[in-house]
Amino acid sequence: MSRPENRKNRKDLKEQMYKLNETRVTFSFYKYWSIEKPEEIRNSLFKDLDALGVKGRIYLSYEGINGQVSVAKENLEKLKSYTDTIDFLKGIRFNYAIEDDGKSFFVLKIKVREKIVADGLDQNLDLAQNGKHIDAVEFNELTNKDETILIDMRNHYESEVGHFKGAMLPEAATFRDLLPEVLEKLEGKEEKEIVMYCTGGIRCEKASAFLKNKGFEKVYQLDGGIIDYARQVKELEIENKFKGKNFVFDERLGERISEDVIAHCHQCGAQSDRHVNCDNDACHLLFIQCDNCATEFENCCSIKCREFNKLPEEEQKAQRKDQTFNGSKFSKGRYYLADDGKFLQ
Ligand SMILES: [Zn+2]
Ligand SMILES: [Zn+2]
Repeated sequence: MSRPENRKNRKDLKEQMYKLNETRVTFSFYKYWSIEKPEEIRNSLFKDLDALGVKGRIYLSYEGINGQVSVAKENLEKLKSYTDTIDFLKGIRFNYAIEDDGKSFFVLKIKVREKIVADGLDQNLDLAQNGKHIDAVEFNELTNKDETILIDMRNHYESEVGHFKGAMLPEAATFRDLLPEVLEKLEGKEEKEIVMYCTGGIRCEKASAFLKNKGFEKVYQLDGGIIDYARQVKELEIENKFKGKNFVFDERLGERISEDVIAHCHQCGAQSDRHVNCDNDACHLLFIQCDNCATEFENCCSIKCREFNKLPEEEQKAQRKDQTFNGSKFSKGRYYLADDGKFLQ
């Protein structure tokens, strides 16, 4: 549910961030680790990271830690020294963003969750029994072979704007829906070499363990995900097999890996891979919008949202309860095109 007060606060904080004149570095990290009392760790971690000016989103659970954050460049070394004092963060890999304006996050949130990656499984997977980690060179070699099966372990709205050449692209909008879909797609291919990838590697740790548990033997996972692949490709000057944008879960919404634009505007069908959130805060739908439609719809997902957005704030507040917008009807990244190809309004 949208809370107008919080949204307002968000906008102020965001404006503040854009005014800040400091160089910030964005990166993600994760570690599967048995943390007995995540609630207890949460508060001290928040205090220490806040003091270092870290912004971003961190999930803690009994199964580990998963974070996407930014920090002022001048505090990066201090942050590393700090994480080295914590057993489960010692030597952890910071997976640096590829296209980074430092404007990725504007608040720090640390949440205790049941799992760091919601998988929808009743049983805990044995993550020690997961796939073989491969680097960019091995990835290119394996996926050059015709008989190798390459599968994207991200949600559909992520792979829509960018993916590896020849990858299977599941339709699911969440990881928990993705696992059963992948299993169905791979049925009968238990003997084949399966290569999987995700944004930074965290989802593959589980997905590969899941497949191995289901009888697949030759399972490989791209170490460090798309983010580290892009870094290695640059450094080693090898072929880049990733086309388009890498979707990211922060204010940037994506980082460009190749110049190819492989997606289409959800409103007019023109070539575009610009993810936006509907400018009507009561809607906030995540969708793809071209520049022309952004002008025509004034950054909104529909005529309804555009007109609502023009109402005085008081009027919006009064109407909000009785209105439904695309964002309240469709879950994140789920959109539906009408028969004429136009975005449903
Ligand atoms: Zn358009
Ligand atoms: Zn909207």
